[in-house]
Amino acid sequence: SEVVSALADPEERDAEASVRPKRLGEFIGQHRVREQLDLLLQSAVRRGSAPDHILLSGSPGLGKTTLAMIVAAELGSGLRITSGPAIERSGDLAAVLTSLAEGDVLFIDEIHRIAKPAEELLYSAMEDFRVDVMVGKGPGATAIPLDVEPFTLVGATTRAGLLTGPMRDRFGFVAHLDFYDPDELEQVVSRSSRILGVPIADDGAAEIAGRSRGTPRIANRLLRRVRDYAEVRADGVVTRQVARAALRVYDVDELGLDRLDRAVITALVTSFGGGPVGLSTLAVAVGEQPDTVEEVCEPFLVRAGLLARTPRGRVATASGWRHLGKTPPNGIF
Ligand code: ADP
Repeated sequence: SEVVSALADPEERDAEASVRPKRLGEFIGQHRVREQLDLLLQSAVRRGSAPDHILLSGSPGLGKTTLAMIVAAELGSGLRITSGPAIERSGDLAAVLTSLAEGDVLFIDEIHRIAKPAEELLYSAMEDFRVDVMVGKGPGATAIPLDVEPFTLVGATTRAGLLTGPMRDRFGFVAHLDFYDPDELEQVVSRSSRILGVPIADDGAAEIAGRSRGTPRIANRLLRRVRDYAEVRADGVVTRQVARAALRVYDVDELGLDRLDRAVITALVTSFGGGPVGLSTLAVAVGEQPDTVEEVCEPFLVRAGLLARTPRGRVATASGWRHLGKTPPNGIF
């Protein structure tokens, strides 16, 4: 089941856009980042100049793209959107940079995946608003300097640590987005249901929020699935009971674990006595690739405190045992 995946699904683009906050005042949670951005943007508007380049780091679905769009809206500027993997050659980037209008915001998602030559071109654009475009090949090649209008780069990355040092240093403003707490996710769900015209009870919003793995993208997706259920199997109103019944259909449990997450923790507890067990053995037990278990399931299981990685292998924590309704053995924390 992909219903609790934090990754963007291209087919959901329109659904996501319809509930995306457009201004800073509508953006829920992340109070510190919001306040800092508010100061940065307001002062830039007053001075009439482009603000520092902005780096946003954080897990998928926490609002990096949304904030980039908000930055452009608050500045009243144009926005260009691209991504690291889309920029294969430095010429591609030079074309984008030289076509920017003064004050534009350039959003580069997954900026840590930008190709090396393009990255170097980006340095000079960020620092001096200038790029050297190479024309020709071999000994006859010449660098033609081109001006770039003052712009603001908003870079997004899932982990700031993946960025090279010189790249990170060129951002004057760096912010990290954290997972949201249940209260904030409840606000996300309530706001989205208002926009979508879905009648929802407070306990229904809370139920969805609690299963959303700290991630607004997942909260919005679960809301859409629960709405479908409410319309087809109930009277259209999302109550706690309706949300629970709907999410049972999608195999999403009270903590937001899906079938595979539960299979991992169940195998760990029932087949391996709670561990420690090696990743590949665990993966075979649930019939998945080790990569999938490691990258898709484990980060959330670790964050939820159900599984721990130790030098000797994976172990179930006491909460992991209890989540399956079992008593943890003595000495397990
Ligand atoms: P990212 O770029 O970090 O992967 P997005 O900005 O695309 O995430 O956000 C994913 C979805 O979650 C969007 O539909 C967006 O509207 C919603 N969302 C993210 N952060 C917030 C927030 N703070 N308040 C309300 N909705 C949010």
